[in-house]
Amino acid sequence: MIKLTVMAAKKVALFGLGGSGIMTAEALVAGGAEIYAWDDNPDSVARARAKGINCVDLHELNWGKIDSFVLSPGVPLTHPKPHWSVDLARGADVEIIGDVELFCRQRREAQTTAKFIAITGTNGKSTTTALVAHLFRQSGRDVQMGGNIGVPVLALEEPQDGRVYVIECSSYQIDLAPSLDPDVGILLNLSPDHLDRHGSMENYAAIKEQLVAKSVQAVIGVGDQWSAAIAARIENAMLVDVEQYGAMLDLSDAPSLRGAHNMQNALAATAAGRILGLEPEEMMAALKSFPGLAHRMQIIAERGKTKFVNDSKATNADAAEKSLSSFVSIHWIAGGLAKEGGIEPLRPLFGNIVKAYLIGEAAPAFAATLGEDVAYEISATLDVAVKHAAADAAQSSHHEPVVLLAPAAASFDQFSNFEKRGEAFVAAVEKLPLEGKVEG
Ligand code: ADP
Repeated sequence: MIKLTVMAAKKVALFGLGGSGIMTAEALVAGGAEIYAWDDNPDSVARARAKGINCVDLHELNWGKIDSFVLSPGVPLTHPKPHWSVDLARGADVEIIGDVELFCRQRREAQTTAKFIAITGTNGKSTTTALVAHLFRQSGRDVQMGGNIGVPVLALEEPQDGRVYVIECSSYQIDLAPSLDPDVGILLNLSPDHLDRHGSMENYAAIKEQLVAKSVQAVIGVGDQWSAAIAARIENAMLVDVEQYGAMLDLSDAPSLRGAHNMQNALAATAAGRILGLEPEEMMAALKSFPGLAHRMQIIAERGKTKFVNDSKATNADAAEKSLSSFVSIHWIAGGLAKEGGIEPLRPLFGNIVKAYLIGEAAPAFAATLGEDVAYEISATLDVAVKHAAADAAQSSHHEPVVLLAPAAASFDQFSNFEKRGEAFVAAVEKLPLEGKVEG
């Protein structure tokens, strides 16, 4: 845990007591702050109280005495209709910040040589964060990885000389981090997403820009008009231009970095490595050994010629498009709770599909779209789909048949989330009989 000594003796109000909210409260208390925490969910309040966190309804607080208001990531600051607690803080002219801001302040306070790499973008944040961490780890650096990718940033180890922090930042976290000052700030890409929560594309892009605006060295993808416009405003930004530099990086031996989108991630990650002193040869070797992120186009098994790929995170057509375009002889497991538009946008890639194995509620609708163009069966469940797809792939004459779970649909009809769906896929693959394998 990073003790927030920088906030010692400060009076801090805090709203949002999920995992990272509780962590923030504990880090503040450990640093000597006096805190007043609250959540709209009584269960969260009860859980926090059980951990000794001082909880009070923020309506009853004397806001005139409060130094800072800490908002959990997930409760947006810039929003057409702010949360009531934000209104209270604004009314009393109290600064509103989040856990990444607290991390930045503590890092400055600690005055170590610890480096800080912050990563954002609409897509590829987690992959790039994990890849950057992998590159530094493989070079023997002391890496702390966290933020939006999972481990709350304040749950990481204290800053110390030589340490490298690799932190994934959501727009919400950036919005609540006015002094965000990474050594390397990576902005991968921008596309309209979550605009319902950010109001407009201009607003969303302006928030993302803050991550690179104060970074010592900015690394910016220029594959879309919004990021390119930001790059043009930032002095000395290092540009990630897949079209121009893609040929310079050979990812053919990097199984977890297939597809053009991963070229963007790899170029950005290696740029960060170069800036902070990693050797190109070391990074090339590390790209090949990158294990990939679970549930994101992850090769989870190879049986004979067949590769099994888990892209359970592909919960819509846009994401499934990336994996369907990364392989050519695909036994495609798809379906679940359909999103608007279904799989119609994937039609240009139907040629890569040998057969589709449809599961969940979306199966009839997906079947209707595939029609005469692609062979399919209604497998109904993931287990049956895996069994049939594996059997068909084993008969394939192609040199690299692929059994791909890229559902292009949400998981909630059959699973509690996409992770559980991916785990069920891995389990089903593990249960397959090892044909032709000699025992003993
Ligand atoms: P995020 O953390 O931003 O949600 P992930 O790294 O988890 O991103 O990747 C989610 C999905 O987005 C991947 O399965 C892939 O289909 C797609 N993706 C990954 N990197 C990129 C990129 N650079 N550009 C566009 N899409 C990408």
